[in-house]
Amino acid sequence: MPLSHGRPYLAIPGPSVIPDRVLQAMHRPAPEIHGGAMVDLLAGLLPDLRAVARTRHKVAMYISNGHGVWEASIANTLSRGDRMLALATGRFGHGWAETAEAMGVDVEVLDFGKRSPVDPDRVAARLAEDRAHAIRAVTLVHVDTATSVRNDVAAVRAALDAAGHPALLMVDCIASLACDRFEMDEWGADVMISACQKGLMVPPGLGFVFFNERAEAARVCADLVTRYWDWRMRADPEEFYQYFWGTAPTHHLFGLRAALDMLVHEEGIEAAWARHARLARAVWAAFDTWGRAGSIELNVTAPDHRSHAVTSVRIVPPNATALREWLADTAGVTLGIGLGMAAPGDPAWHGFFRIAHMGHVNAHMVLGALGSIEAGLLALDLPHGPGGLEAAAAVIAGR
Ligand SMILES: *Cc1c(COP(=O)(O)O)cnc(C)c1O
Repeated sequence: MPLSHGRPYLAIPGPSVIPDRVLQAMHRPAPEIHGGAMVDLLAGLLPDLRAVARTRHKVAMYISNGHGVWEASIANTLSRGDRMLALATGRFGHGWAETAEAMGVDVEVLDFGKRSPVDPDRVAARLAEDRAHAIRAVTLVHVDTATSVRNDVAAVRAALDAAGHPALLMVDCIASLACDRFEMDEWGADVMISACQKGLMVPPGLGFVFFNERAEAARVCADLVTRYWDWRMRADPEEFYQYFWGTAPTHHLFGLRAALDMLVHEEGIEAAWARHARLARAVWAAFDTWGRAGSIELNVTAPDHRSHAVTSVRIVPPNATALREWLADTAGVTLGIGLGMAAPGDPAWHGFFRIAHMGHVNAHMVLGALGSIEAGLLALDLPHGPGGLEAAAAVIAGR
């Protein structure tokens, strides 16, 4: 019996749930774009974006999704034939690497599999072999959205330093920004890229590239850059139109203003991290308890390496698909498909799903999604240990 009429919950890892305040802020007539309120609006957004990224450095904004800022980060730092070391812990590490390869970069991938974080010792060993310093950049995905592995950015920085290697450290925080703690300056990221449709709670369409002086120095000789992707004008514009190299994404900026008001000025970024950490622990507690019957398990074993924004789950196939369909049809909850874990034609593909808990989510939403999953496990007769929901409630209750 369908019980899905009511407010739907899109629990996929991007786009995330959009706050009504963000939607309402966007619902207005188009503004003048050559002066007036837009100029002031933009000036106010920049310090708040830096506060979320924990950096005092520059930011370039683009009308783009995450794939666009993958390209922007490479274009502004590397030249055709330069060597790049891509650290992969799932689909997204490979995606950034493939983008660079298509642009003419000589990419070497260090693959850590689909369930484990980057091993900083392996990175240090590889960099130590590169005595001529041919590697110009190391790319690292903070949270891989496919596997839900969270990597230790500071430890990778330490690996570069231990090897005395000058390569830039470039970090993809598209899934993690404003959900998992991230400290651009303290952790020593030279470039950080993100987009607005996940932790920042805005519809897809804005991409961000943060960069420090070391990255600015690399820009001077980067020959892959093209006019549209050049970050120099965007970060230091002489005229307003240069922020976006053309018409500004007016309504997205109103939406972003509302989102940053909520995140930076009302809740506070550290409180937002703490909220996501607690909600994630509730999700893990439920799955660990259900998993006692042996047919369902979290993809990442070590809690320290699990994302606070998204959780990847393994379940005996084809139960992931059955459960996702039951939840969408009966409960109004849409879970994410497994990504990059098995080929779409392979029966194993139906053994993976993801639940997002990024952005505008709170305790009742996460408990509602988990309660719906428990109902789905019961309705479909899928083996699971009893008490998953109580275990999640105990985490929310602070027990
Ligand atoms: C979502 C995501 C991307 C890609 O973003 P798009 O907006 O879909 O292009 C890249 N990296 C990570 C870690 C992501 O979560």
